[in-house]
Amino acid sequence: MRNGAISPSSHDSDEQDRALTRSQLRQAIANAIDHARLSQRFVAVLMVSLERNEKLSAFFGAPSTMVMSLATRRVSAALRPADRYVVINDEKLCIVLPNLLSSAQAWLAAGKVQAALEAPFALQDEEVTVRPVVGIAAYPDHAEMPEELVVHADIACGIAHSRDIAQHVFQNEDRGAADTYVGLDSELREAIRANQLRLVYQPQIDLSSSRCIGVEALLRWSTNEFGEIPPGTIVRVAESFGVINLLTTWVINTALREFCDWRKSGFRGGISINLSTLSLKEDDLPELIAQSLGVWQVAPELVTFEITESHSIGDEDRSLDVLKRIKAIGVRLAVDDFGTGYASLSYVKNFPLDELKIDKSFVQHMRSSKGDQQIVRSVIDLAHNFDLKVVAEGIEDESTLRDLKKMGCDFGQGFVIGRPMTGSALMTWHSARGH
Ligand code: C2E
Ligand code: CA
Ligand code: CA
Repeated sequence: MRNGAISPSSHDSDEQDRALTRSQLRQAIANAIDHARLSQRFVAVLMVSLERNEKLSAFFGAPSTMVMSLATRRVSAALRPADRYVVINDEKLCIVLPNLLSSAQAWLAAGKVQAALEAPFALQDEEVTVRPVVGIAAYPDHAEMPEELVVHADIACGIAHSRDIAQHVFQNEDRGAADTYVGLDSELREAIRANQLRLVYQPQIDLSSSRCIGVEALLRWSTNEFGEIPPGTIVRVAESFGVINLLTTWVINTALREFCDWRKSGFRGGISINLSTLSLKEDDLPELIAQSLGVWQVAPELVTFEITESHSIGDEDRSLDVLKRIKAIGVRLAVDDFGTGYASLSYVKNFPLDELKIDKSFVQHMRSSKGDQQIVRSVIDLAHNFDLKVVAEGIEDESTLRDLKKMGCDFGQGFVIGRPMTGSALMTWHSARGH
């Protein structure tokens, strides 16, 4: 990094003193933890990821190495003398902050690092800007061991990335992703690229005519190491590790490609596709949907996007704007798992919706629980008052099906009607029914 013939500036030598190898970093964290344990202090690890902009990713290897080396100079200047860092790769930097009085100091340090990295970098006669995203984990709040602290900071960084926020402090509920599925994120990325995921389809019927009005696409993935991964977990891992957009793109394209074939062979229904609320933070999503509809020649009104309330989208302007742009394409929008999530009622008031899906937990128990039956009834009324269609999911027996029909529920979905099945099984199911 330095030319030995030239006397180094104090800035350069400072930078080199702070830069560690990975094993030195581990040792530095271990020492800091020992010290913190005795002195009742905190140790924080920041995982900083430099999100590239278009211009930068158009280059190859060397320039991003150059950006990282410029970035470490700035970071070095922003840190306290005792702080250390290691460059993980061209896009990732891990910083250890020993001897903190409170874990809140880590959050302040993260802000300083971010501020230092926000100004453009001068690179090959061009100015390049990167967006720093920081994950934070602290001893003793989030981990006791050096490796664990680094892994948790990395997970927090992935979460910040996928939520499109500048920082995320590791939370106890992020632990599930940390413990159970270490390594699953890279497998998932690979599986998407290698087309190893599958979609199955579950029919939805019009309750008054029993006609099939469409299907819901549901994700499936079986791995050698972990077996069949539940779709909720796939989505959570994808959200935590910044793979959700890749996954969403794959799901939309695969569903529409298969759907296009069925339409050609006479299928008259529509298709519902699940969207994680996190994908709504992606500005390009409406274009991606429009493009995919164009490629597969699918009329937008045949497609419903079910918004799964995995996170509150509240009144965030950006998500609402993305949702409105999706709606403007002409597709339908549904709120999934209605009644269980965050801010359901404000969705009905503020969002351009077409449909509510009553969560299956209410439908499954409506025959045994008066309360659940009341909720189902109220959601049906609420939907109709707002001119929305209503779908009951999780219908497992004929008597529930009959009750829902009597209550005026528009559409139904559940094992008693049809289980999720492959595309070809769906075609067989459909032609056997005659509609
Ligand atoms: P969901 O959107 O609420 O999907 C309905 C779930 O209920 C499916 O579970 C389906 O198999 C199950 N189900 C349908 N009928 C019945 C029934 O009569 N009884 C019972 N007990 N269950 C029934 P699955 O396939 O395991 O999916 C779980 C969740 O994973 C989905 O819940 C959805 O939130 C998420 N998911 C699945 N595929 C995707 C996807 O492509 N993208 C996103 N973002 N999320 C997905
Ligand atoms: Ca759904
Ligand atoms: Ca649901």
